[in-house]
Amino acid sequence: MTITEPAAVPPATGKAERWTAQWKELYAEVITTGLCTGCAGCVVTCPHDVIGYEHAEGKYIPFHIEEELGLDNCIHGEKGCTTCTRACPRFRAWEPAADMHLFGRVREPDEMAGIWQDLWLTRAANDEQHQKGQDGGLVTAMLTWLIDHDYIEAAMVSGVEDDDAWKAKPVLARNKEEILATAGSRYTYCANPLALRDAKEQGLTRLALVGMGCQTSSPPVMWDRKAGKVGKPFLFNIGLLCSKTFDDAIFPELFEAKYGLKKQDMAKMNIKGVFQIWMKDGSYHEINLKECHAWTREGCKNCPDFAAEHADVSTGGIGEDNDWTLTIVRTELGKEVIDRMIADGTIIARPAQEDKEAMRLLRLLSIVSRRRWPEFADRAPAIGVPPPKKKADGTAPAAH
Ligand SMILES: Cc1cc2nc3c(=O)[nH]c(=O)nc-3n(C[C@H](O)[C@H](O)[C@H](O)COP(=O)(O)OP(=O)(O)OC[C@H]3O[C@@H](n4cnc5c(N)ncnc54)[C@H](O)[C@@H]3O)c2cc1C
Ligand code: SF4
Ligand code: SF4
Repeated sequence: MTITEPAAVPPATGKAERWTAQWKELYAEVITTGLCTGCAGCVVTCPHDVIGYEHAEGKYIPFHIEEELGLDNCIHGEKGCTTCTRACPRFRAWEPAADMHLFGRVREPDEMAGIWQDLWLTRAANDEQHQKGQDGGLVTAMLTWLIDHDYIEAAMVSGVEDDDAWKAKPVLARNKEEILATAGSRYTYCANPLALRDAKEQGLTRLALVGMGCQTSSPPVMWDRKAGKVGKPFLFNIGLLCSKTFDDAIFPELFEAKYGLKKQDMAKMNIKGVFQIWMKDGSYHEINLKECHAWTREGCKNCPDFAAEHADVSTGGIGEDNDWTLTIVRTELGKEVIDRMIADGTIIARPAQEDKEAMRLLRLLSIVSRRRWPEFADRAPAIGVPPPKKKADGTAPAAH
């Protein structure tokens, strides 16, 4: 198969330059430096299918399958293939690239939660979608609406394994029943872009991606860096606000070992300042987040993007009410969809600015995440980030 490479990338910030970076650079600058989130953007777009990925505890990181040049180089890359670095939302100046593509400008230094047009608190009008949704059920309602109105054919979301209701796995949802079955949040990692493979097998080409910022920044980066046809199936991007995901081991090692809470008996979980767990027997438990930090997944530790800043619409659960979705409308397409959903009564919406606590947390948690971005990496995500306030004893407080 011959892959035609575009010669140059139009500038995100400055003059056009020839894009030659391939797996070798991705491996040296992202995968082995702690920047890799495990989003699987490179995996699903590699035109030669030579990037492997294990969706399992302690893995969630890409590796090269062919060994001719060792694990740190790619024979196709040596011949000119550069798709993986064009698709990687942590490679070099990814934030300005995605900003420029989506919004025609980079974020202002004070725009901690990224660029947006409208802020709403929303909830699905349909009771079942509202109940099964993690917060207001907006994501479930929106995916259903997008299929009904022929914007997309299917969505890349997170389902669970047949024998384990809390082991997340990437799933392609094609109708309202499958969308409803995958509602709610799992707080372990799920590389939803991997569901693109199922879509390809089924001949589906018009898709929505649901994912945390680490995943939803990948399509705009691909488009900006002219990755070509691999970026075409991503028609609508729904972001999930996220501070971190946890290792799967948190279930046996903390929840069960210390609190006697067995995974199979859990009914729902949420994070609202504390880790909240509802059990099937009706009991409710709160676990201090500080205790959970030891199980933070490696790929989240350097992530600067709390607010999923490059989605069409980003969604979260912060604020005073438990059953509304904080809805950040970012792109023109996102605005068109949300405005139509409000107008036809699919969702109920009220201005999010009414909820001062939600606004405070959105800014604060965005700042906390941006402070994690390491100094050796491209500086854009750290621009404008205020330093932590010193404590009375002159030391800086812990990040989280
Ligand atoms: C790991 C994680 C961490 C989060 N952290 C925060 C936070 O700190 N603050 C905050 O305000 N909001 C956070 N959220 C977002 C919040 O939990 C809700 O997903 C969001 O408010 C949308 O609610 P909803 O009722 O509209 O979504 P729903 O209608 O319930 O739809 C949720 C969608 O998320 C998908 N999904 C579920 N779990 C995962 C996963 N692990 N990976 C990828 N996709 C998944 C589902 O497949 C579904 O499509 C987080 C979400 C996740 C998955
Ligand atoms: S250089 Fe091309 S073939 Fe090699 S890993 Fe990257 S995308 Fe795949
Ligand atoms: S951040 Fe995503 S695209 Fe980049 S190397 Fe890691 S898995 Fe691949």
